[in-house]
This record gives sequence, C-alpha cells and structure tokens, in this order.
Amino acid sequence: MIAEVIVDVAVSQVDRVFEYAVPPGFDISVGVRVVVPFGNRVIDGFVLKLKEKSSLPLGKLKSILKTKSNKPEISEEMLALCDFMVEKYNIKKVEALRLFISAEVRSGKVKPKSLTYLALNPNLLIEDYEKTLKRLTEKQKTLLDFLKENPLNLQTELRNNFGTSVVDKFKKDGLLLVKEINVDRRPDAMKIEKKSVVLNPEQKRAVDTIGTFLPKTYVLFGVTGSGKTEVYLTLIEKALENGKTAILLVPEISLTPQMLGNLKNRFGETVAVLHSGLSQGEKFDEWHRILDGEAKVVVGARSAIFAPLENVGIIVIDEEHEGSYNSETSPRYKTIEVAEFRKNFNNCPLVLGSATPSIETFAKTETGEYELLELPHRASNFDMPKVQIVDMLSEIRAGNGGMFSRALLSELDDCFRAKKQAILFLNRRGYTSFLRCAMCGYIPRCTDCDAPLVYHKEDEKLKCHFCGKNYRVLTQCPKCGSKHIRQGAIGTQKIVAEIKEIFPDIPVFRMDNDTVSGKNGHQKILEEFTAVSPAILVGTQMIAKGHDFKNVELVGIVDADQSLYQSDYRATEKTFQLITQVSGRAGRHSGLGKTILQSYAPKHYVYRFAANYDYKSFFNREINIRETTDFPPFSTIVRILITHEKENLVVDLTREVMAGIKEVRGKYFESFIYLGANKSPHTRIKNKFRYQIVMRFTKGKECDIIKEIYAVVNGFKDRKPSIITEINPSSLS
Ligand code: ADP
Ligand code: ZN
Ligand code: ZN
Repeated sequence: MIAEVIVDVAVSQVDRVFEYAVPPGFDISVGVRVVVPFGNRVIDGFVLKLKEKSSLPLGKLKSILKTKSNKPEISEEMLALCDFMVEKYNIKKVEALRLFISAEVRSGKVKPKSLTYLALNPNLLIEDYEKTLKRLTEKQKTLLDFLKENPLNLQTELRNNFGTSVVDKFKKDGLLLVKEINVDRRPDAMKIEKKSVVLNPEQKRAVDTIGTFLPKTYVLFGVTGSGKTEVYLTLIEKALENGKTAILLVPEISLTPQMLGNLKNRFGETVAVLHSGLSQGEKFDEWHRILDGEAKVVVGARSAIFAPLENVGIIVIDEEHEGSYNSETSPRYKTIEVAEFRKNFNNCPLVLGSATPSIETFAKTETGEYELLELPHRASNFDMPKVQIVDMLSEIRAGNGGMFSRALLSELDDCFRAKKQAILFLNRRGYTSFLRCAMCGYIPRCTDCDAPLVYHKEDEKLKCHFCGKNYRVLTQCPKCGSKHIRQGAIGTQKIVAEIKEIFPDIPVFRMDNDTVSGKNGHQKILEEFTAVSPAILVGTQMIAKGHDFKNVELVGIVDADQSLYQSDYRATEKTFQLITQVSGRAGRHSGLGKTILQSYAPKHYVYRFAANYDYKSFFNREINIRETTDFPPFSTIVRILITHEKENLVVDLTREVMAGIKEVRGKYFESFIYLGANKSPHTRIKNKFRYQIVMRFTKGKECDIIKEIYAVVNGFKDRKPSIITEINPSSLS
C-alpha cells in the first residue's frame, strides 16, 4: 500500500504530496498523522490518500516510520475543505491544514495534564491497617476517619490538610496508592444568571423556520437586545436532539466567556471553546475533546469554524458583519465562505445574525440567495436609546473648541449624579488619519475616486488609497478659506486625561489595544468597570461589541466621523454598524439609555439613518451608491501585494506582475473598471517595502478573471519578494 503524505513544513517548495510505502502491519487510514523520513530529517506529515500503486520507480520509495494517531485528525470533510480553500484563496495545502490543526496540537510538545491522586488500597481494609499501627496519633486518627468517607483525594490537598508526614506514612505502608488522573484544561466561562424565557412570536417563527434544518443560509436580522442569542441556543438544542453537533462563532475572543457561560447553562460540559487566545494546554485539550466526540457544541472566534466536529447540524455566525471574520494575515480566508462550504457538506442550515448585516449579506436576501428572518423589537420591550446628533462645527462657532460638546458634558453630569455609568467611545480603526477644516468640516477627496484622502505624516502627503495618487497637504480650506486645518484623529489617552480633569471624582477605565493584555485582559477591565457606579469607560471598537452592561445609561461617541473618512468603500457601512452597536450598550436594563453622537458632518445620511435605527433605509441608500459607483457587491476589488526588504526587487517584480495582469485585462477589457500599480499607502512595514497592484472589475466574469490572476501570480512564486492576492480586502493600506 502507498500513502500520499503532506509534510508539515512551512516552506512553499515543499507544499507537495510525497509518496511513502506503508509497511506491512501498519493500520493507516486517510487523515492520520505519521512520521516520515524527509531528506536527512524525520518529520510529521498527514496521510491525504491511500492507493495501490506508486508512480515512483521501485527502490526510490521510502517507508512511513510510525503512526502518531490511530484516529484520523483530518476528516474527509476537512480534506475537501482544504481543496476548496486552496482553489479559492490560492493558498498552500499545508497552510489550510495548519488552520485545522493548531501548532499546539501538531507540535507534540503539549502533553495531556494529569494530577496526582491518592486512592485507598482496595486490598487493604482500613480496620486491618489500623491494627498494624501500635499507637494511633491524633493526626492519624483524623486522617483515617476522613478516608473512610473520602476514598479518593488529590495528594496536594491531603498533604495540606493533614500534614505531609502522616500522608506519606500511609502511602509508604501501602494504605494509599498513587493514581495519576488525566484532567482537561478548560477555558473559563463567565457566570451568567440562568433564566428560562418563553420565545416571543418572532423568535418562534425564526426557530420554526430554521428548525426545519434545510441546508439554507438565513440572515437573522434583529435589533440589539432582540433575543438572537435565545434563538441560537434553541436551535442548537434542537440540533443536539437530532444527534448532531453545532458551531457558534462570535466576532471576538473577548466575547467567548460570555457566550460560553450561556451555552454551559444550557448544555453543560458538552461545550468546547476554540480560539487563538487559549493557553497551549487548553487548546490541546479542547481540540481533543472535540475530535473525540466528547464536545458537541463549539464556540469561538473565527478559527472555531475549523473545529474538527463531525455531523454538524447547525452553524451560527453572530454579528456576521464584523471585519474580524475575514482573516487579514496569511492564509487569508473569509469565515462566511468557509461556513458556507461546511453547511453544504453537512447539509445543514447556516445562520448569519446581526443588527446591522453587511451590505453584501443583506443584498443576498434581496436576490433570494439568503432567506431573511427579522426580530424587530427588543425582547425586553425597552426602547432603544435615543440618539442625539451634536454638530461639532457649531460648538466651535460657539467658542467651544474642546473635544466634548456642551450637550455631552451636561449629560455626563446628569448620568454621574444619578450614580449611573457612561461609556465614551472613540471610533478608531487602523492607523490612517485624515485632514479636516475645523471651520466648515471640509474633507479633501481624490479627484478620480472621490475617496477621502489619507494623511501620511512620514512624507507630508495626502494619498488616495484606491489609486495611489498623491496630493499636497492642505494648508488652507478650498471651500471656506480658513487656515484651521486639523488632523482628524484623537486618542483614548487624551480623552481619559480630559475626563479626569473635568470629573476628578469619577473612576475612569480605559480599554483599547494598549491597555488590554494577556489572556483575560478584556474581562478584567470589564469586571472592574462593572463593579463601580458611577464610573466611565473610555475605549475603542473593543467596547462596542456584545457586552451586556447593567448600569450604563449614557454613551458618547466622541468623533463619529473617524471611520467615515477611512478610504474604504465600506466606510459608511462600518460607521452605521458602529453607531448602532455602541448605542446598543446603553439602557439595556432600564430602557432609559441615551446616546450623544458628535460629528463635524452631522447632515451625512449615515447619521440620520443610524439615529433612527433605520437599517433598511440606510441599506437602500447605500446599495444604490454602490451600484452607481461600481463598488462591491456590483464589482470585485483585487489587490496584489508585493513585499520585501530590497525595494528594487519589489519594484521589478511589481512591473513584471503588472505586465501579466495587463494581459488579463486585455482579454477581459469590458469588465475592467480600474487597474493600477503603486507604492502601498503604508510604504514600509517591518522593514519591508510594499507595492501593490489594485484592480476593480464588474461582476459576471469575475471567477474566470480571478483564476487568471492567480495563474499570473503563481508564475512568480519562487521569487524572493512575497506576493499575496486578496479579493475584496477590508483595507487597502
Ligand atoms: P441579542 O443577541 O439580539 O442582542 P440577547 O439574546 O442578548 O439579544 O437578548 C437580550 C436580553 O433579552 C437578554 O437578557 C435575554 O435574556 C432577554 N430575552 C431574550 N429573549 C427573551 C424573551 N423571549 N422574553 C424575555 N426576555 C428575553
Ligand atoms: Zn473650510
Ligand atoms: Zn483615487
């Protein structure tokens, strides 16, 4: 028998399948891990296929040395998914496989954890042993009495409670036997109050529809607090009753303890967690619990979509619009697409839940590709917080040049007097920044693309991230002539400092990338904040998502416009999503929440719709704009990013690739809207120069075009610079 083995090595040249002979007597099936000779080393690999005949001449064939697992670690489904991803994302097989089986599981360095227990010797009666002791000390007597009731104990606990010498004497005499017992390392769940709710008619309709378990994709469009989680849990319960398993994804690691708490309340120990923030031991144990069929429900961030579950009965992606579902480091993939694949393979439903579905997702409910289900009311029947839009330009004109409007300050004051909590949200994404006229709010835009220009401090230029065109930095406003041009970005630190000055007695907490560290960093800050009232939490998108605050009544969005002027075709959409989500944090348990939204462009349509929670009108407006400007979902954007330490190598390669892409464009000339090569807006990251080729083409022939682009790119794979291709990337910086 011959096995095709993929060896687990990072280098691209070895992304090949090698043949090995299976020695007689080896019990090998597809998906098992094996050890093979490779060059002059011995390495791990996975069996991808078994066959009778080798294509190699006899004698050239090496043999598998041993098997590391009897149970396949890669199922037939995951092998098929691997092929799908290789084709769709132009990645290597090993890269996909590494997503399925994390380094912790592959390395062989993480071992199962065991604890030392002491058990009563079943062949020695306590009474008989007592007789062998001449004089019973007080300590020995208490321990013997204890052991009569408790035959199995942790060695450390016994020693701590009764003293090492007496415990060890019993051990030496053979009354207590050492037992090593394997224990699972398990991630912590948040304690969530158990409550049983009766589904409201809308929830019930969603459950009944999805609960037919047809292999369809549903969009569960429900305002924040409408009880989507309850729908997910009920559906998962039904899937389990049918003997199936379930996957539930949340957009951020920080949200898993909360969801895990909910799931454990309902399904107990059959729930496992997978995400990149687990400790090595936890990753190892949880993965094995899933593989061994002990865990039937998996919750986690995007990587949990690769959970080694079999017989999946439902897949849920909560807050489906979140950018975190798209991997932005290699290998790049889109979680929803992977979920679609697993849904089709398992013949089960996929549920995409959101209060603000992505434009592309919602568009599919209109074409009939997805089915729409709505939860239009908060389950508690509390109103959504009122949103007040504050015009920051009129604040300036009224002489208030600070970062807080008078309205926000007075609301904060009221909030603290009422001993409630407030959240100040800073809308900050990436590193980019824009310039803005402080008097009239004018923002410079690209004359070709109409995209807001991004300010680059390093070379004092404004740049368009879509076409790479450079502009001089603005010193005077072309619209009103003012010379008060400001850089748009403020930091959380600055806000915290000002708040402390204005409200010296109020505890201030800060949550952003700089303050959150470690495994439970998020949770720690959130717990500390939750424990005091009045208090204020200042943070970035991190605080926007999912958290269920009991005492928060006021939300201040300090500079709503910041995400609006990112040069990203989804900027408006993201702004709408963020506003809806942050305001959703207020008044969850009182119905008295309020949001103050500060903007320099208060008339922008996104604010009008967001303030009224009118997603559908926003969608209609936005989809129209996308259609007239030829942006996704009406077109596809592709970026080829080329990076290396030596700039001349990057420039040369960019030129060559560009020549290849131009040939593709020649074949599909009607489809191409734009093609250009340029320095990346972030010219250098980690010492590597970055150049990019960006193109945009209409729908229709995009599958063929993408295939040809991949073919061009793959022709340069053995060159020194790294070269990656992204389809509809979430950022062009
Ligand atoms: P979402 O995920 O849509 O934001 P949640 O599922 O977190 O909303 O629900 C918000 C709150 O409403 C939770 O406290 C939940 O327990 C409660 N809830 C959900 N469904 C019902 C119901 N049918 N009746 C009463 N309360 C409910
Ligand atoms: Zn101006
Ligand atoms: Zn441009």
